[in-house]
Amino acid sequence: IFISFEGPDGAGKTTALKKLMPLLQEKTNKEIVLSREPGGSSISEKIRKIILDIHDEEMDPRTEALLYAASRRQHLIDVILPTLEAGKIMLSDRFVDSSIAYQGGGREIGTEAVSKINDFAIDGHLPDLTIYFDISPEVGLSRIRKDHEGQMDRLEKEKLDFHKRVHASYLEIVKNNPERIVTIDADQVPEKVVADALEAILKRFPE
Ligand code: C5P
Ligand code: MG
Repeated sequence: IFISFEGPDGAGKTTALKKLMPLLQEKTNKEIVLSREPGGSSISEKIRKIILDIHDEEMDPRTEALLYAASRRQHLIDVILPTLEAGKIMLSDRFVDSSIAYQGGGREIGTEAVSKINDFAIDGHLPDLTIYFDISPEVGLSRIRKDHEGQMDRLEKEKLDFHKRVHASYLEIVKNNPERIVTIDADQVPEKVVADALEAILKRFPE
């Protein structure tokens, strides 16, 4: 079973996943492997470093999209496929939908172009289930920017616009994949978010 976790920045995926993993282990009695993108394998983590070390404006959006797809490909080969072949449950903090939302929507390359290069990278290996953590761009941003003073200069405004595009793109992806993606409300107390995610997984895979 391959499950991906998606959502805008500040949705709390990473925190929820840490709590979710042992609970899922207990309920299913199966071995669980948790990893993240970009990254998740040693080559992929090196690619992550290249992407995240470079300031947004310096890297061409298509270069960025290709690096994310390359990182994903290696993560798939090194971690995801071996985990699935061993009969374990694979949890990935982000997968292909992140690229559609961030590079396709956020950086405005467009869904089609980003889908194309990712089809090449993942070669049909989509998650069995995707849990989408929904949070508004405003709440998400305020969570990751604790020192926000309520003032919005030009850069901050651009950032919000970027996150609005990412969010809108996620909603579009959710709408187009009703059988794969389950939305949970990430604007709730952490315990409830974890409980909702666990419930969605157990509902989809009873035993
Ligand atoms: O999920 P995580 O916080 O580890 O993501 C790291 C950063 O990479 C975030 O700021 C996220 O916005 C960005 N990202 C991106 N495009 C992706 C995946 C992540 O811009 N496809
Ligand atoms: Mg995170």
